[in-house]
Amino acid sequence: MEQHSLTSKWSLLKDLSHLVYPEGCLICDRELSAQEKHICSFCQEQISYTDYQLYQDDTDMDKLFWGRVQVYSTYAHIHFKKNAASQKILFNLKYKDGSPLGYYFGQEIGNRLLGVDKFKSCDLIVPVPLHHKKAFIRGYNQSEMIADGISTIMDAPVIVDLAKRTKHSSTQTKKNRFQRWDNVSEIFKVDPKIQKYNHVMLVDDVITTGATMESLIKSIQNCAPDIRISVVTLAIA
Ligand SMILES: [Zn+2]
Repeated sequence: MEQHSLTSKWSLLKDLSHLVYPEGCLICDRELSAQEKHICSFCQEQISYTDYQLYQDDTDMDKLFWGRVQVYSTYAHIHFKKNAASQKILFNLKYKDGSPLGYYFGQEIGNRLLGVDKFKSCDLIVPVPLHHKKAFIRGYNQSEMIADGISTIMDAPVIVDLAKRTKHSSTQTKKNRFQRWDNVSEIFKVDPKIQKYNHVMLVDDVITTGATMESLIKSIQNCAPDIRISVVTLAIA
């Protein structure tokens, strides 16, 4: 099957982003004033941006992968805080129709990373896949929406079928990090077509222990040992 037929449906709306965004605040639904764009000032005030794109030294996200897997560069857009806005963002992305919100943050991320040297060579964007059963129940993959937003700003395509999840990982929540790694270590199947790319950006909504990401990275490196891998998430917990 032609790869691009499986790029996500939202990329069709790239040039129509003014139609993608509804009128109210994307996070709390409040009516926006004339000065506010997509997110109201109450929510905006609660969002804690990492500014990782400005760091010269290693960030907490870089350190998350130390001693585990080789990663070329990393970026998280916001800190996940125990406040209403953070929680609503992740809830909306997962359980409401979070597509406009994911797309919006994706474009913000793209704008932050556009001038960053370590991301300039990215020629492929891959959202962390959901198991197809989960995607079917939810109707969409929230990471794909973020990836699509990034892709409209940076010159790299989103291709969703190069990595697939092969089994559920829903039993992982009560285990510790090492048991969890065992549990997720075999869940990704990577298409050898990924070898023709130089630098892949993996995109997820939130990173906590990094176990799932670690597993995906190892699966990609097994398949394409020379590819550069960068990790981008909307939030870091
Ligand atoms: Zn709001």
